[in-house]
Amino acid sequence: MNRRFSVLLIEDEEHIRTIVEYNLGLDGFEVYLAEDGPTGLNIATTKEPDVILLDWMLPGMDGLKVLEKLKADQRTKSIPVFMLTAKRMMNDVGKALYAGADDYIVKPFEAEELGEVLRHKLESIVKI
Ligand code: CA
Repeated sequence: MNRRFSVLLIEDEEHIRTIVEYNLGLDGFEVYLAEDGPTGLNIATTKEPDVILLDWMLPGMDGLKVLEKLKADQRTKSIPVFMLTAKRMMNDVGKALYAGADDYIVKPFEAEELGEVLRHKLESIVKI
């Protein structure tokens, strides 16, 4: 990896936050964590991560709403967003892409492979 990517994970499930932080950390990513949408939006504007992993099913403000807010804010609109999507929600993926998501990752995913997947997706989006 040519440089250190930073990732913001917005995910309400603690065990997913834990394994993603651990595995991406091992992989050399800088990881920020948020357990809900408002916290995630706040971190996105202050830390300006290279990519945001956004869970769709969040309590309160759901992922699609968070996505809309990210894309409506000048400070965060250009940050790539990958939606974390349960298999049963696959029919709705179009909605997220239409709302500005760059890609999606189907849950459950292999946390050990996430770094490689992310890097691959990022390198096709971010010119490095
Ligand atoms: Ca969730």
